[in-house]
Amino acid sequence: MDSKIPSSVEETLDPRDWEELQGLAHRVIDDAIAHVRDVRDRPVWKDMPTQVREAFAAPLPNQPHPLSEVYRELQEELMPYPMGNIHPRFWMWYMGAGSFSGALAEFIAAIDGSNLGGGNHAAALIDRQVVAWLKQMMGFPESAGGTLVSGGSMANIIGLTAARNAMAGIDVRTEGVAAMPQQLRFYGSDQIHSCHQKAVELLGLGNKALRRVPAGPDFRMDISALREMITEDRQSGHRPACVIATAGTVNTGAIDDLRAISELCRVEGLWFHVDGCIGALAAIAPENRHLVSGLEAADSIALDPHKWLHVPFEAGCALVRDANTHRNTFAVHPEYLEEKPRGIAACEYLHDYNLQTSRAFRALKIWLTLKEHGVEKFGRLIDQNIAQARYLSSLIERAPDLQLMAPTTINIVCFRYSPGKMQEPALRELNTEIMLRMQETGIAAVSDTYVSGHHCLRAAICNHRTKRADLDLLIREVSRIGSILTNCDGVDAMREK
Ligand SMILES: *Cc1c(COP(=O)(O)O)cnc(C)c1O
Repeated sequence: MDSKIPSSVEETLDPRDWEELQGLAHRVIDDAIAHVRDVRDRPVWKDMPTQVREAFAAPLPNQPHPLSEVYRELQEELMPYPMGNIHPRFWMWYMGAGSFSGALAEFIAAIDGSNLGGGNHAAALIDRQVVAWLKQMMGFPESAGGTLVSGGSMANIIGLTAARNAMAGIDVRTEGVAAMPQQLRFYGSDQIHSCHQKAVELLGLGNKALRRVPAGPDFRMDISALREMITEDRQSGHRPACVIATAGTVNTGAIDDLRAISELCRVEGLWFHVDGCIGALAAIAPENRHLVSGLEAADSIALDPHKWLHVPFEAGCALVRDANTHRNTFAVHPEYLEEKPRGIAACEYLHDYNLQTSRAFRALKIWLTLKEHGVEKFGRLIDQNIAQARYLSSLIERAPDLQLMAPTTINIVCFRYSPGKMQEPALRELNTEIMLRMQETGIAAVSDTYVSGHHCLRAAICNHRTKRADLDLLIREVSRIGSILTNCDGVDAMREK
């Protein structure tokens, strides 16, 4: 306790002067609007000077500081140094670009303050409504189970846990995985996201229970290889349990053949899970929804509203076709959480569908932005990003010094600067340098990866602010920086710069 305050005074976190707070809060909103409105005028990213880094090593604040001063610190040390993903030329890794109304919703949700573990309150109804809307957007039945989670990784864990429990052959919640008569086998393509390895490890199945099915030249799972692995596993006495199809791989955006995998799962009696963190939402995009048809037949889906719905982090969603299976995977009823006929506990506990007990009111930002813009607009924005990626691919194919490294299915473009007559290691070094220079000058942010063993740059266009002119600029800059680096004496010259 503050030593200057006598112990008879009862304290609170509320301000002494609400009017003063009001003034500051209005300024925060004004600054926030300017920050988002003018994002295009700033570099995508800039590195922090030492002085800023050091500011975050300041000691534990035992004593109070005026809020306005703390806010000024943030304006100087936080706001100029973001990751950059709200910028129109951020195409690195894979994430959404945020939205102002999404941020407002986060604020309102925090002011409401409700805990979404359960309870009889309006936020819980919004949470259930958003889950119902997402089911509808995915073509899932109203009766399905669903829950909002932190992101795609958690959503996949929820789906795969339901799959494990449903396929274990025993009451795995009581007996544990060691009691399973046969080892379970899960299958995903060799392009599968890393979160699935964490999931099978966490589920006690071990990484070797997740078999990587080779992908074909189109980076989609090779279905006949999958069929062979299933047969092989049955012959070895294992229990094939679940196929994880990816609708939009993180590397190239490839979409597994959902119909074929769904049919195979039906015939073989396997759980059909779809990791739709990137592509599931294409189901609302009129020009591209055919790419994810078959999605609606899944036993479980993981999707990621903080990607193509652009709500601020965090927001993922797990849907499980059979609500009972979903509930039976997680429901526990301790004596201190008993449902009551009336009052605040007159509710179904939402944590029965989730690993978390306390849970953020993350539904509000989805609810608000869907209502504000309408689902159709989000569908058009998804189509727009896919059209932009195809446009970028066409620019690359026309540029003599650029090489397209994978087919562009949706919104991910893999390419490299390749002026000819260069070995792979030199190309890798050259392209890495191009990528880093674009980041460091704040022109554009792309990432790099390997496709079929070749290093390349990767632009993932999940961004409602991107315009085609931004992609024209990207291509010009890659070529310009690439030619500067290769002029004179090839990559050796680059090292001296
Ligand atoms: C992003 C992504 C994930 C993980 O989602 P997070 O929201 O980052 O936890 C899983 N799978 C795929 C295919 C993804 O693109």
